[in-house]
Amino acid sequence: MDNLVAPAFGRVFNQAAACLLMRVNESGFIIAAVSDKYLALTSTRREDMIGKDPFDIFPDKEDHPDGAISTRNAILQVWQTGKPVIIPDYLYYIHSPATGHLEPYWWRSTFEPVFDDAGHVEFVLGTAVDQTAQHLVHLNLDKAQQMLNLAIEAADIGTWSIDVETKAITSSARAKALYGLPPDEFSTLERVLNAIHPDYRQLAADRLNEVIASNGERSFTIDYPVKGIADQRERWVRSTARLFFETVDNKRLVCGTLVDITESKMLEQRQNDFISMVSHEMKTPLTVVTAYLDLVLEKAKKMNDSLIANPIYKARLQTSKLKNMIVGFLDMGGMESGKLSINKSAFSFRELTEELIGEMLPFALSHQIILQSGPDVELYADRPKIGQAINNLLSNAIKYSAPNTDVKIGYSTTNRQIKITVTDLGIGIRPEHQKKLFERFYRVDHSHKSRSGFGIGLYLAAEVVKAHQGKIGVISQTGEGSTFWFTLPLE
Ligand code: ADP
Repeated sequence: MDNLVAPAFGRVFNQAAACLLMRVNESGFIIAAVSDKYLALTSTRREDMIGKDPFDIFPDKEDHPDGAISTRNAILQVWQTGKPVIIPDYLYYIHSPATGHLEPYWWRSTFEPVFDDAGHVEFVLGTAVDQTAQHLVHLNLDKAQQMLNLAIEAADIGTWSIDVETKAITSSARAKALYGLPPDEFSTLERVLNAIHPDYRQLAADRLNEVIASNGERSFTIDYPVKGIADQRERWVRSTARLFFETVDNKRLVCGTLVDITESKMLEQRQNDFISMVSHEMKTPLTVVTAYLDLVLEKAKKMNDSLIANPIYKARLQTSKLKNMIVGFLDMGGMESGKLSINKSAFSFRELTEELIGEMLPFALSHQIILQSGPDVELYADRPKIGQAINNLLSNAIKYSAPNTDVKIGYSTTNRQIKITVTDLGIGIRPEHQKKLFERFYRVDHSHKSRSGFGIGLYLAAEVVKAHQGKIGVISQTGEGSTFWFTLPLE
């Protein structure tokens, strides 16, 4: 070697990686050179190392984890075969001046031969890389994964993912079980979609596409019944999904969870059946009572007997209220069992609203209901059901606003749709409740007794509107009032 560059090579060695240059002979190993990085990494001094047997300083471990070769044997092997040896990550304790104790470190060591001019191994060059930080990250990741797995297992959650490009599905044993498949059977997207009840299949496929289109910004949840692919058992499942991008190749994956909600659905079903049954049973006696009241009312009017006519009239108003309630419960029972059938016909929007206002007048003496003037619009929809929806919004507007305030029905049209609004100057609704109002049985807590109800009016209205491919919503300010609106396509 050129005498001028030889010292430079020494510096390169010292400043390069954490290296140890060892000579091997029959009597053992001797450290010939050690780099600065190696000294720093192992908290040792050069004068304590040079000329020493490395295993006097760092006693070798008898056995290495996972059956990896020991350091001593690795060096011997390099010396004998002239081929490099890598020892994968292993734990080795090093004295730390900072703590004064032996501290655990994870190392990856490489041993390479350095040949003399005759081609014999003269030295073995050992390079150590401190893998502790990476190892701790892995350990923490493993721990987090284990905890997640434990939670998933404890909650009986099934997990699945779909590769957006190839449509390949990976699913846990639990997810397969919820689709009635044994753990070793593969599911395909087609099989999974076919297992979903036909009434919900398209909806599930649409949701999946929405999940993909959302670019990972939102997660989606949907409940649907499935018929087990292999076991033919019927179950209700709740599926939640979100789009993820794989870190390495940016592959798009829809990942999700599946939970068995059969029991709660069955309970709900039993509640619905009970409500429907009771409502049915009440319908006939109520019709009879109403007919008798009408009869007596007519007689009393003819006889100009206001002493009888007035209380009978009041009783008659109450039976109307009861009838409305029962109709609501019956409709709800129908919807829950997926039987909401829409019978469309052409009718005048004005005529319908005027009729509704007329029917409502006796109950709304405290309020003035104002219908916005303007040209009539012909609707093609289910007249009684749309009437029921508007009726529910109107009666709420009256129920949730002070006497002597106005309630307005407005409307506006474009080529494609009509937007109908019902506005009151009432108590309003806080933002956190606004979205939930359309859920079944949802009620904002009203301590006032006169505002009793069951929380199904808006749910029914929303279901009717949705069945017509319309949208429904509310704009409201607490203390100032609310505007409930819904749209219907104009056909
Ligand atoms: P109900 O009136 O029987 O409770 P609804 O489904 O019709 O059931 O309404 C759900 C809830 O929405 C009501 O309990 C009430 O809290 C709120 N709400 C509905 N309409 C109005 C309104 N016009 N103003 C204020 N709150 C309203």
